[in-house]
Amino acid sequence: MTRIGKRGLLGLAGAALAAPAFAQAAFPSRTINMIVPFAAGGPTDTVARLIAQAMSTSLGQTVVVENVGGAGGTLGAQRAAQARPDGYTILLHHIGMATIPTLYRRVAYDPINGFETIGLVTEVPMTLVGRSSLAAQNMAELIALVRREGEKLNYANAGIGAASHLCGLLLQQALGTRMTTVPYRGTGPAMNDLLAGTVDLMCDQTTNTTEQIKAGSVRGFAVTTPERIAALPDLPTAAEGGLPGFEVSVWHGLYAPKGTPAPVIARLNRALVAALQDANVGTRFAALGTAPVPVARATPEAHREFWQADIAKWRPLIQAAGQYAD
Ligand code: ASP
Repeated sequence: MTRIGKRGLLGLAGAALAAPAFAQAAFPSRTINMIVPFAAGGPTDTVARLIAQAMSTSLGQTVVVENVGGAGGTLGAQRAAQARPDGYTILLHHIGMATIPTLYRRVAYDPINGFETIGLVTEVPMTLVGRSSLAAQNMAELIALVRREGEKLNYANAGIGAASHLCGLLLQQALGTRMTTVPYRGTGPAMNDLLAGTVDLMCDQTTNTTEQIKAGSVRGFAVTTPERIAALPDLPTAAEGGLPGFEVSVWHGLYAPKGTPAPVIARLNRALVAALQDANVGTRFAALGTAPVPVARATPEAHREFWQADIAKWRPLIQAAGQYAD
């Protein structure tokens, strides 16, 4: 009796131990929520929707994009950091993950240790754009205009921590001139105001600006990469336009809350890699002036290493530009 009872207990314990492994093998068994920390219709949203769709195919479950915009990307990051670490909440964020730890004295989550990395996604050039009626036709005229008008000019961004904020900070520092900043929940809504002519300038990713520049509905002044880009071959680099060394590229990565089990991260990573190799993703990215990262950079380890190095890279630069940070 006792023996059978013991065996029964052991059998139960064995089943209990096996349960989590079985649950992980079955991942994902339902919809996954991909948080985008900026408004719908903007550049991060565009990247996320393409990746989410391709990941859905390879995971056999829908990956739904949820826009949690506001406070420069910190609200969405907070939501992700505080979610259950089960793989059903993931976060697609950008270079802000490297600048927020320096830009903010305090956020309501751990901006450095609150996440597992899944892999890098893409690096996107930025473009300096203005409303089409702005009294400057090229970079030389724009530099003169900013120096002359300063705070009379409205510069749109997606809040402190956004890439558009970082680019504006570097621009104001390079010119030694402050402009008036107008923060939005994302540069999707900011672009609407630029198109309407209610703000003057913005620096934003090609994933949001390429089509508008090509259509002439906003004026493109410069691209922030060392070389011109194929999607906008007529657009000069910032260096060509008179701002040597003015370079920013907006990398994106995929994250999960700290403590998400390693097999789940591995499954998500496989789906990310498949998405980066998806033909439609490649074609759309190219049309928007970007490309998927090479697969070797889309590992959790390479992502973490790059992210940590980028925190260290930006810290002194942001501290030096401190007076333009708000
Ligand atoms: N990524 C943009 C930025 O950082 C915001 C957005 O995606 O809407 O400015």
